[in-house]
Amino acid sequence: MPKIPVKVVTWEEIVKLSEILSEKIKGEFSPDVIIAVARGGLVPARLLADSLGVVDVLSLKVEHWVVTASHTPEARIKYPYKVDLSDKKVLIVDDITDTGDSLILTSKYVSENFSPREMKTATLQHIETSSKFKPDFYAQLVTDWAWFMYPWNYWEDEINLVKKLIDERRSVDGKVIESGFKENYGITPPIPLQRILSEMKRRKMID
Ligand code: AMP
Repeated sequence: MPKIPVKVVTWEEIVKLSEILSEKIKGEFSPDVIIAVARGGLVPARLLADSLGVVDVLSLKVEHWVVTASHTPEARIKYPYKVDLSDKKVLIVDDITDTGDSLILTSKYVSENFSPREMKTATLQHIETSSKFKPDFYAQLVTDWAWFMYPWNYWEDEINLVKKLIDERRSVDGKVIESGFKENYGITPPIPLQRILSEMKRRKMID
């Protein structure tokens, strides 16, 4: 059993999930405006905008940070702004609902500050067992929690996972990292680990 179950999601799978999602939305809701929850919702929102024929795509940047002296991460809107959407039907889009905090926050923010005529939420994946929030539309229901490595996040995720391994194994040796990766995360990384280690050097994260 890997310590952290990780699943690599390919571009092809993203396109497929977006198509499933847009088909579910088409029968029920015709948004005038799509709001992407940045950054995870940016690519799905753009794909949905194309298939639903929506020209107006906005974005809200949600940031997660750990409150001092508390271990629970909190979410907040990093660059708040106001806009009048009182005559618009709005669809808020994110990649996944895990805790559900991002969508709880974003839908509250949009309803209080943008006053949409109607508002719905959509994600590619919904983790039923961990999320406090159920989106109106989702393409795939997830029952076993995993970290989904989306193609727009390969570098960031791999760097974070390698960082954990370096701390654990106290080594930056390519072979040690490679075997540890498979053992701890259960996958072969989509970007070769040598490239990740060189990038970590470039960013001065390792010597
Ligand atoms: P949430 O916990 O629902 O507020 O999720 C916040 C954001 O973190 C999501 O929009 C994703 O971009 C990312 N995220 C959270 N959980 C996962 C996961 N299990 N797999 C991949 N990305 C995740």
